[in-house]
Amino acid sequence: MKFGGSSVADPDKIRHVAQRFVEAKRRGLNVVGTVSAMGKTTDQLLALASDVSPTPNPRELDMLLSTGERIACALVAMAIDDLGEEAVSYTGSQAGILTDSAHTRAKIREIRGDRIRTSLEQGKIVLVAGFQGFSRDTMDITTLGRGAGDLTAVALAATLGAACEIHSDVPGVFTADPRIVPGARKLPFVSYDEMLEMAASGAKVLALRSVELARNHGVRIHARSTFSDEEGTWVTDYEGMEQAIISAVTHSETDVVFTLTGIPDRPGVAAMIFDRVAQAQVNVDTIIQNVVHGRAEMSFSVPAEDVAATNEAISSAQADLGVFAVEMNDRLGKVSLIGAGMRSHPGVAATMFRTLAELEINLEMISTSPIKISCMIGRDRIPEAVRALHEAFALEGEPQPEPTI
Ligand code: ADP
Ligand code: ASP
Ligand code: MG
Repeated sequence: MKFGGSSVADPDKIRHVAQRFVEAKRRGLNVVGTVSAMGKTTDQLLALASDVSPTPNPRELDMLLSTGERIACALVAMAIDDLGEEAVSYTGSQAGILTDSAHTRAKIREIRGDRIRTSLEQGKIVLVAGFQGFSRDTMDITTLGRGAGDLTAVALAATLGAACEIHSDVPGVFTADPRIVPGARKLPFVSYDEMLEMAASGAKVLALRSVELARNHGVRIHARSTFSDEEGTWVTDYEGMEQAIISAVTHSETDVVFTLTGIPDRPGVAAMIFDRVAQAQVNVDTIIQNVVHGRAEMSFSVPAEDVAATNEAISSAQADLGVFAVEMNDRLGKVSLIGAGMRSHPGVAATMFRTLAELEINLEMISTSPIKISCMIGRDRIPEAVRALHEAFALEGEPQPEPTI
């Protein structure tokens, strides 16, 4: 059972979460929990670090950031004790979460679950601090990247052969962000493939890497509410008899688009530029390239937090390729349609473009996968675009019939 930062934001909420763990335990389950740092703690710690140092040392940053979840876990364990059950909290390293040594974006290599299992056998509720691990190579504490509390939860479930409940301030995965579309509908089931596309295009209710891990290890995720017992959304390998053409509209407002012009047009140039970008550990999303008057022009989008690393990578490419023009645009956002049924239904893109055209929204970049269409548009137009697309594809209304799993 994982509870996100908003679910443990203050002492009352911490006691409430403790109650949820205790209820599960008293239903006869073995309970392993992970919680995120309270409220906006991680953001505050990051801001504090940058107030102290313009380029915080990554090892020390991880020492700092990992404390947030440690605090939350210890507090939840205390509250569980008060409710009459035994609990024990562990840091990621005490729980045996072993990672590589890439600070602030470490990858989990394995989880040594012995200590967790022993505590479970002793009848304890085990709490593991989310979002962190330990590198054997450097003997240092690492963190796993923003939003990676979800990843800790799925990794623990995979190790222990458990199902994974991810609790947050929304009761499941919706047809659009309910903060933007109040009439959005909760989806009873989402396939891994659709959830991967949704997470990659901004539906932050489940973090992308956690969904990847769940798919690779067959972990069933139940995304549900911290505050009620209602059934949430199951993310599984379920594929319906007849797939909905469109399952959800997603959006993101954090992409930054780089446009490089006047690049030499010859084989290997794109490979060289994107090698540099990959070496800087930047996750590139949409890429577009074409050739104008014998020079190549390319645009690609990256997450806002990767802008500095991208700039460095581009400078290093310029050193080898000669100077080309670089423009950066942080006034764009992305709206996407996700749906496994679009594979076999032509016309989805046309309807999407028409809907946006009726609002006089300009499309800056378009990218597709077999089950997704994304458009980059002005960031200030995102909410109305999401609402219009949700309506155009009739996503409100009656839920689909629920299959049994
Ligand atoms: P936590 O702090 O529990 O990890 P997050 O803030 O990461 O929670 O994720 C929950 C938020 O995701 C919700 O408050 C909601 O605004 C947002 N969200 C975006 N898209 C969706 C969607 N399609 N369905 C549900 N929630 C969504
Ligand atoms: N506390 C971390 C973050 O804010 C991890 C998480 O909440 O999932 O990114
Ligand atoms: Mg989250």
